[in-house]
Amino acid sequence: EPQTIGFIGLGNMGGPMAKNLLTNGHKLLVNDVVSASVKELQNEGADVGDNPADIASKTSVIITMLPSSPNVSEVYLGKNGIIEAVQEGSLLIDSSTINPEVAKEVASKAEEKGATYLDAPVSGGVIASQNGTLSFLVGGSKTGFERAKPILECMGQNIFHCGETATGQAVKICNNLLLAISMIGTSEAMNLGQNLGLDPKLLAEVISKSTGRCWSSDLYNPCPGVLENVPSSNNYQGGFGTALMTKDLGLAQEAATGTKSATPLGSVAHQIYRIMCNRGYGHLDFSSAYKFIKEDE
Ligand code: NAD
Repeated sequence: EPQTIGFIGLGNMGGPMAKNLLTNGHKLLVNDVVSASVKELQNEGADVGDNPADIASKTSVIITMLPSSPNVSEVYLGKNGIIEAVQEGSLLIDSSTINPEVAKEVASKAEEKGATYLDAPVSGGVIASQNGTLSFLVGGSKTGFERAKPILECMGQNIFHCGETATGQAVKICNNLLLAISMIGTSEAMNLGQNLGLDPKLLAEVISKSTGRCWSSDLYNPCPGVLENVPSSNNYQGGFGTALMTKDLGLAQEAATGTKSATPLGSVAHQIYRIMCNRGYGHLDFSSAYKFIKEDE
């Protein structure tokens, strides 16, 4: 049934997710530090909260979609943060990709206040965000999950309960480790093919029916002009920032160190995206790995 939902973080992902909640009949109370993003949601009918604490005092369901761990710590635990004003019985859903340890810390602070916290990072990218077809990877209590599910279904197609607190983040980190590697691999293959004189569209079409097929080649090809409506065909604008992917690979490396897991390709991929950030690619979509490889020739 329709309810008033707090939504904090209206960026590339959060903006379209919030719009899908409105489309599904929910009322929204939103906040972002970028006023243009707030204005866009206001134009769609959302109300605006002064800060996270203000939103927490007025709504009992809050979703956050922020860049990284420090932003999540600030919005939940900082001054005028959610935890300061959260009502007993509230449901707090964080869909940012962050350090699982930070997720555990916020979850325990929420629990002290009698609120339920779920980590619910997403997979699918901006197009899935716009189309409401995201996958949600949820960690936390089963009862919290059941309560969140109908809300998440307004924004996503596959809602997975991964286990206890922070398991959603753990699944997400593993997925993005693989995605980061596959995007670089796809970029290398697409570039080599062109240097061999192949038409990139033909190459992508064959790969999509062959064993090299992956999401990066099939639905998010990094070579400009192969697919419409993907960042590579729009100067790598929008999408999933290289800086954010670098952050996720850092989380993967920390997790790998903590568990003594060997992730040699993940380590190299981390360094490649780090160099891209240092060369000014940080704000471009991570499929600009293709552009980076080409420019290096
Ligand atoms: P983004 O940078 O486009 O959006 C983040 C938003 O949070 C921005 O609008 C920013 O102004 C806002 N924000 C930051 N600090 C804030 C604060 N203290 N209070 C209020 N608002 C604040 O990032 P995004 O691409 O939307 O990604 C969000 C999260 O989702 C990240 O953790 C990312 O790793 C993850 N993710 C992104 C994608 C993708 O394709 N873009 C896919 C899956 C997961």
